[in-house]
Amino acid sequence: MASLADVFTEKERTNLLKARLAVDIAKSGLDQFAENEAKTVHANIYNTVFASVQAPNACILCQTAILLKSPTPGICNKRGVNSLCTTMHDSMATKPQPYPTNVCNKIFDEIKNLHKYSIPSWRNTRAELWTQNPWEIAKAYLPPD
Ligand SMILES: [Zn+2]
Ligand SMILES: [Zn+2]
Repeated sequence: MASLADVFTEKERTNLLKARLAVDIAKSGLDQFAENEAKTVHANIYNTVFASVQAPNACILCQTAILLKSPTPGICNKRGVNSLCTTMHDSMATKPQPYPTNVCNKIFDEIKNLHKYSIPSWRNTRAELWTQNPWEIAKAYLPPD
């Protein structure tokens, strides 16, 4: 019989391992632990930020791209004043800009502050879903794909 290494590419084997890991996590009840953890982190971040702004409101508009500074090493490929970013900030709608009440920018900073190395996986997470979905913030702490 052919071995796993003969049949699958490196990437496919990695994906298989991830799928296997997901099953193990689900079986062990670790997913419940992770879910609680995600909710706690989410609540802590929102409590901190809402306590620091005058008129806190839950925003569902800001995309990750407009909160991310240009350039951001490793994500944004703008390399000089006249160079254009073609990864995240490639249209008017995704240009970096502060949101009027600043809530999302502060959530963004708080996610970064809580990250061990201050480099969350911004590509993993969709900022417009942060308010409603704790997992969306948790994903910023998972390794990038
Ligand atoms: Zn916003
Ligand atoms: Zn960019």
